[in-house]
Amino acid sequence: MLAHVPVGGLLADTPNLVDGQLSEAASGKWLEKRRPADGTLLCRIARSGAADVEQAVAAATAAQPAWAEATAVARGETLRELALLLRAHRQELAEIVVEETGKSLELALGEVDAAVEMGFFVAGEGRRSYGRTLTSAMAHRTVYTTRQPLGVAALITSFNTPLPNIAWKAFPALLCGNAAVAKPSEHTPASALRFGELALEAGVPPGVLNVVHGLGSEAGAALVEHEDVALVSFTGSAGTGRWINERAGRRLAKVCLELGGKNALVVCDDADLDNAERWALASAFSNAGQRCAAASRIVAFDEVYEEVRDRLVARALELPPEPVISEESLERILGALERARSDGAVVLCGGERLRSPGFYLAPTIVEAAESGSEIARTELFGPVTLLFRVRGLDEAIALVNDSPYGLTSAIHTSSLHRALRFAEKVEAGVVVVNGGTHGSEPHMGFGGVKSSGTGWREAGVEALDVYSDLKVVNLIADPTLV
Ligand code: NAD
Repeated sequence: MLAHVPVGGLLADTPNLVDGQLSEAASGKWLEKRRPADGTLLCRIARSGAADVEQAVAAATAAQPAWAEATAVARGETLRELALLLRAHRQELAEIVVEETGKSLELALGEVDAAVEMGFFVAGEGRRSYGRTLTSAMAHRTVYTTRQPLGVAALITSFNTPLPNIAWKAFPALLCGNAAVAKPSEHTPASALRFGELALEAGVPPGVLNVVHGLGSEAGAALVEHEDVALVSFTGSAGTGRWINERAGRRLAKVCLELGGKNALVVCDDADLDNAERWALASAFSNAGQRCAAASRIVAFDEVYEEVRDRLVARALELPPEPVISEESLERILGALERARSDGAVVLCGGERLRSPGFYLAPTIVEAAESGSEIARTELFGPVTLLFRVRGLDEAIALVNDSPYGLTSAIHTSSLHRALRFAEKVEAGVVVVNGGTHGSEPHMGFGGVKSSGTGWREAGVEALDVYSDLKVVNLIADPTLV
């Protein structure tokens, strides 16, 4: 067996998990994974390609029918065992995530808990896999709906919250009777592999959940293009999502895309400014701003703009530094900031590399960017937020909606009328009043509009719609035969 579990804080090689077996990539090639906290080598990961994807899809295809034959209740019970195992391995999993991402142990522990809670929620859905009974225009006809698995699901995920990202997909995919091939981010391979191993230990049969590592353009693309993959469920950037939608769309595969955001938090002149300050900082900068739901635009009413700005800048300077995921990511963000400066935007704090080695960018606040400018429209996925000044609610809503994205949003106000108006008019999948732009829970459908997704919702009972097809069953009785 290949060694890959943490040994004295070090991870050795991270192989694939196919049909219950750990295996190197068929090519024998490896990729290097560096620690964001100091840039040192953390581990090597299998550099998989089409041959590895072929094996994993074949294993999933072979394992799926027997898994689907089990009742949803039985599958839920196995998934509950997995959630319990994740909880039992809480510390170990969190430590792997700390190494892979450079985030704090506290944050990583919270993310393990979020993955566990998703497991418990979905496991319970095994006993609530309800259909509907329908009335009919025809006499003696009884109609009901039932959920059917799709077959093999590709689960392609981002690095930012690695365990919740895979948990949000794997739990509902498996509950619905699918087998899956997960392609985790090349930046967070080891946590996904541990998830797969614990699934096996929990009793998920070999082949039902496979993990294939590698680059998106190689392993990921091969998975998207594979004829036997019925569903591609993807969490990542809009650019990659667009490519996946086109390629998988050609063969009419089902595609669920959970993409980026340029989320806005509005501070009205009647807001509780202490509360607004707290949530704006947490939404913009926690996890180094690497959240799809990060508040990357803070929109303040004219009357409170200066106070909001001065408070945020003062507090941002006190925040403990967190690294972004890679050198490339840091360079990309610094480049965007440089272009914004030359376009006339003003960097009030941060905007520069904090220390090297490690991929640290100081929490950055920018003002005077045009709403239509590159930096206002592009998701940076780092600790950068932009400040905008507006003269009232209508202007705030127009500015918030002037974005290619529509994932989450927040408004701080003591006016019920403003809150309701904002909730009605804002173009976003999630609206929060007097809180942050992030903080979804397992039973709440999550997703966005416009370039933030394709309309599916992850988590909540809505996730079951992603991973199953609806079948309408018609029973026509003949009363003369009674
Ligand atoms: P990314 O698009 O670069 O990569 C995401 C995943 O896709 C990775 O596993 C990558 O290897 C893979 N990939 C890349 N190219 C591929 C291809 N051609 N075919 C198949 N797979 C491919 O995104 P990222 O940098 O990992 O993540 C950041 C993005 O994810 C941000 O836009 C963020 O907003 C988004 N995100 C969205 C949500 C959500 O729920 N909406 C949650 C977390 C992150």
